[in-house]
Amino acid sequence: MPVTNVLKNKSGKIIFFLKSLCFFLLLSIISPVSAMKPEWGFWAHRRINRLAVFRLPAEMQVFFKTNIDFLTENAVNPDRRRYAVVGEAERHFIDLDVYGDSALHILPRYWKDAVAKIGEDSLRKHGIVPWHLQTAAFQLTEAFRTKDASKILRLSADLGHYVADAHVPLHTTRNYNGQLTKQEGIHAFWESRLPELFADDYNLWIGEPHYIEDVSKEVWRIVAESHAASDSVFLFEKQLTESFDPDKKYSYELRNNVLTRTYSREFSERFHDMLKGQVERRMKASVAIVGDLWYTCWINAGQPNLDEIAGLATTIADKKEEAAEQQSWLQRLLKVRSESDN
Ligand SMILES: [Zn+2]
Repeated sequence: MPVTNVLKNKSGKIIFFLKSLCFFLLLSIISPVSAMKPEWGFWAHRRINRLAVFRLPAEMQVFFKTNIDFLTENAVNPDRRRYAVVGEAERHFIDLDVYGDSALHILPRYWKDAVAKIGEDSLRKHGIVPWHLQTAAFQLTEAFRTKDASKILRLSADLGHYVADAHVPLHTTRNYNGQLTKQEGIHAFWESRLPELFADDYNLWIGEPHYIEDVSKEVWRIVAESHAASDSVFLFEKQLTESFDPDKKYSYELRNNVLTRTYSREFSERFHDMLKGQVERRMKASVAIVGDLWYTCWINAGQPNLDEIAGLATTIADKKEEAAEQQSWLQRLLKVRSESDN
């Protein structure tokens, strides 16, 4: 092949690669969650973790308040990891309807029994949030027991995230984004758009935490409650859409300098009214359970004295780990694109 052709070919490939990369990056800017199940908005996750701190008893307050910014910022870590860590994505949801109407009676409460009965691949495919919450609580208890400040913080932030996800009705159905009922977008509508518009008026204050006697029973109760609420989410959106001027259902807003189609304020208000405080109740319940679980893990670990480790938490080691994680995320991203371009 003549040299000029080789050069052309090479530069063509490079340009194609760069174009693809730009396109992918642009996509991730326009719609960071388009390729996966969307989430409580980042705002709500952060808020839930932050508010949970204020519920803790005096013995936990110094440690948790000293590190409240870490717990707030890292409330969204599990979502960031979904790109990079195999096995992460399924921890955020469970498609209960995949298992039929009596899913909650069929599914074993404990992971080992569930694996024996259903098989691990199948479980992971349809989401494992109720089992993973139990694992996460166990890990946090161990971190308290060993008084490992960094671990306590990281695991507390993570646990807060999974608790909040389990409270979202649309995290418990395979029709998680209304894609099976022509209601695409309903997921982010419920858990991002509505809190963004209305959560300033929510009363999310709850008193002191309660000890959870049976963590397993509690997480299944939460998931059952979320699932029971999902019917009205779909129904009300459908009813409202049918009675609403189709030209007024959506509006365009500038987000990060990108013109984005979103549910109009008027449509959002009407939907929010129809839900009669559902988003607020689920968010408030999330704050309650996050605090309750942190507290329960600490009690189960023997109520270790946290005051003496309050200042040790965000160590250099932690930051290194975080940096490495982000690096691997980027590497994977680049690797995936360059492979598929060949
Ligand atoms: Zn999540």
